[in-house]
Amino acid sequence: MKEEYLKTIEELYSELDSSNIGLADEEVDNRLNTNGKNVLISNKKESKILKFLKQFNDLMIIILLIAAAFSFAVSLVNNESFTDSIIIVAIVILNAIMAFLQEVKADKSIEALNKMATPQVQVKRNDVIKKINIEDIVIGDIIVLESGDYIPADARIITYSHLKCDESSLTGESLPVDKNNDNIIDNTPLSERTNMLYAGCTVSYGNATAIVGKIAKDLLQTKKIETPLQIKIEQISKFLTAIIILIIIVMFGIGLVRGMEILEVIMLAIALAVAAIPEGLPTVITIVLSLGISQMAKKNAIIRKISSIETLGTTNIICSDKTGTITQNQMTVKAIYLNNNLYEKLDKKIKNSDLLNYVFALCNDVSENEEGFLGDPTEIALVKYLKEMGYKPNKIIANCPRINDIPFDSERKLMSTLNMINNKKIVLVKGSLESVLKNCNSYIVDDVTLELNDNVINEIKEKEKYLSDKALRVIAFAYKINDNDNISEDNLSFVGLVGMIDPPRENVDYAIAMCKKAHIKPIMITGDNLNTAKAIAKEIGIISNDDEAVLGEELDKYSDEELMEVVKKYSVYARVTPNHKQRIVTAWQENKKVVAMTGDGVNDAPAIKMAHIGIGMGINGTEVTKNVSDMVLADDCFNTIVTAVEDGRRIYDNIRNVIVYLLTGNITEIIIVFIGMLFGFEIFLPIQLLYINFITDSIPAIALSFEKATDNIMENNSRDINSPFFTKFILGRIFTSTVFKSLAILISFAYGYAYFNLNVACTMAFLCLGLSEIFFSFSCKNLKESILNKNIFSNKVLNLSIIILIIAQALILFTPLRNIFKLELLNATQIFITTIIAITVLLLNELSKSLIKKIFKDN
Ligand code: ADP
Ligand code: MG
Repeated sequence: MKEEYLKTIEELYSELDSSNIGLADEEVDNRLNTNGKNVLISNKKESKILKFLKQFNDLMIIILLIAAAFSFAVSLVNNESFTDSIIIVAIVILNAIMAFLQEVKADKSIEALNKMATPQVQVKRNDVIKKINIEDIVIGDIIVLESGDYIPADARIITYSHLKCDESSLTGESLPVDKNNDNIIDNTPLSERTNMLYAGCTVSYGNATAIVGKIAKDLLQTKKIETPLQIKIEQISKFLTAIIILIIIVMFGIGLVRGMEILEVIMLAIALAVAAIPEGLPTVITIVLSLGISQMAKKNAIIRKISSIETLGTTNIICSDKTGTITQNQMTVKAIYLNNNLYEKLDKKIKNSDLLNYVFALCNDVSENEEGFLGDPTEIALVKYLKEMGYKPNKIIANCPRINDIPFDSERKLMSTLNMINNKKIVLVKGSLESVLKNCNSYIVDDVTLELNDNVINEIKEKEKYLSDKALRVIAFAYKINDNDNISEDNLSFVGLVGMIDPPRENVDYAIAMCKKAHIKPIMITGDNLNTAKAIAKEIGIISNDDEAVLGEELDKYSDEELMEVVKKYSVYARVTPNHKQRIVTAWQENKKVVAMTGDGVNDAPAIKMAHIGIGMGINGTEVTKNVSDMVLADDCFNTIVTAVEDGRRIYDNIRNVIVYLLTGNITEIIIVFIGMLFGFEIFLPIQLLYINFITDSIPAIALSFEKATDNIMENNSRDINSPFFTKFILGRIFTSTVFKSLAILISFAYGYAYFNLNVACTMAFLCLGLSEIFFSFSCKNLKESILNKNIFSNKVLNLSIIILIIAQALILFTPLRNIFKLELLNATQIFITTIIAITVLLLNELSKSLIKKIFKDN
């Protein structure tokens, strides 16, 4: 069998039963059924059973099972019932089921995200070009690639233009390699098979069509990466575990010295370990983060790197593209300057506009299918204009075949094609006025070619200024007659200008105002001209003064060092090249600011990679930029960035709330047991602690992650990226709450012991612990402001979980379950008093908030 690179295109067509118009849809379905999907990127899936079993492979579970075995042995020896051991096993299984379900849910949301982030590619089927997910590619498909695309499967090049590919993932070669459709000889090494495209590589420049020879199977694997926060929390919980084990050893000693029975001491030590070791913390954080990811995805912010959630909340600078992100990317031609006339009312055909129409239709890569136009919105506007005027762009394209082209490039800001028009080879050029004029030596008026002089140039520039002052995007057009098949973009004749409107997106002004309130600097970066950029920036409130806008080339005058100061002055950069974007990011980063940067074109990839938060565009972005980004905007919209920053802050806050909640609970439990032991009381039994830990603690913890953002989260909650997780404020909060809670439980116990008996005292302590956990979960909705306001019941998930807890608490106190947990039936007075004590704790906690905030000024 010959390999694909050795075959001719005709051989491939016949062998793969395809043709230059692509496969028929039914055939595609057939092939999908027989060969399966084209899976370039995959997530190795674990079997559900394995995942469930893994829940038992865990220190705490093992401790618990040992405890169960102990208690079983004890009961056997003493001829008692086995309820204790049964309950421990039941709790272990319940816990494993819960952890399993949560993990499955987290996996599902990640999977859904991966789906959303699946790269897309254009294919030609039935002679129609459409965009599909790369997994729907089949053998024999004709793929249509342009710069920035992912190569979805191994394919042989059919046609190409200035094609360069990045094959570093395959060969390690970091520079893009030239590609063509030459026939090559046998035994050519992979890296030199220039007529082949390989799955997983990307197109860096130019465009191509190619026929798919082999589909991909699991080429790239996604990796599970932990976020800095997760790592930090894991370290903290390991540290706490060590301390707790130490305490347990000390208590073990105390228990023995005090003459407690050895088995009893062992059981208590184990229960304490279970109750106090915060080994669930990392899991909770993972759950909160994955929940956050799916919440954000619903708001069009697709997080590709989990760690960016933490960073997002600390963003200081948002550098955003103008076109498509701040504006709608729905362009409409509003004015045309041609033959020395400015046409601002475009309701009928303009006379003597043949040449312009040719450039509109031919120097254009837009394709059309039943769903509409596919391609660059700037170019779509041109085709739409032609259609509206009653021209037939498709016919023009059919009559004037393209011989050669040089694709648009945001560096040159030019695009050219060479077409056969009425038996003449004609170069058609469009681009920014500067780039076009630089290459013109004549201009054309009503079919007469005239010398270009300063007066004419000034006239044209004035027209550009006039149009761009109205926030119109201006494109210039030129042409020349050629005698060969090569394109050089010089000695052109200037043809005319087009002004197109691209209105700002809805509510973008609101998002900009929000940034400013939050002390986030919004910066607009565009390849468009300075006037257009200024006009739009003013309209939406990014700048109020002309001197806050600057041309990209101005930056070339400054060293990197100087640029650190210079960037502070500007909020709008126009006529920017990708290299300027990198310099702007670096300059701000040198200023110790957290920078978010958007990008769409292939050349934006380095700047996106560099930024703290690289943002790709879901609709109009290239696959290459999406792939290096930390977050992709499904709707390409600036406002989504601001919402994502807000979510980043909210999720971080929620993680903090959950951790304060859990740690306070754990520390309180250990303090009570410790103090009890000092005085010779067994206040909490092991199974009671287990119950509290698995039910009363874990349910509200998850519910707390559903907490909505606090009011003014943008104005008030800025956080420095370098600030530690446990700030003095957080430690102060944990300390005071633990003291309040412990006191409350001890008071309940003392009251019960003084006025009733030991059993009542223990039950009152147990009830007080349960109740104060419930109240405290409300308190943890907001660590800084009192929650005793209209928002106290705003978290529906929390409300629901509290109702469940109250029912669970009632069941355990008022039904025979009580006996299993060795609790006493309390009377109304006892319950009332315990409740009052627990409520007092809540009030103290709320009152202390503002005080703690004052003492520990940090966040
Ligand atoms: P941005 O995306 O920030 O608007 P671009 O790099 O797309 O910037 O465009 C910069 C300039 O290049 C535009 O002002 C326009 O003059 C020109 N331009 C944009 N798109 C095209 C195109 N498809 N063909 C030719 N010139 C273009
Ligand atoms: Mg653009």
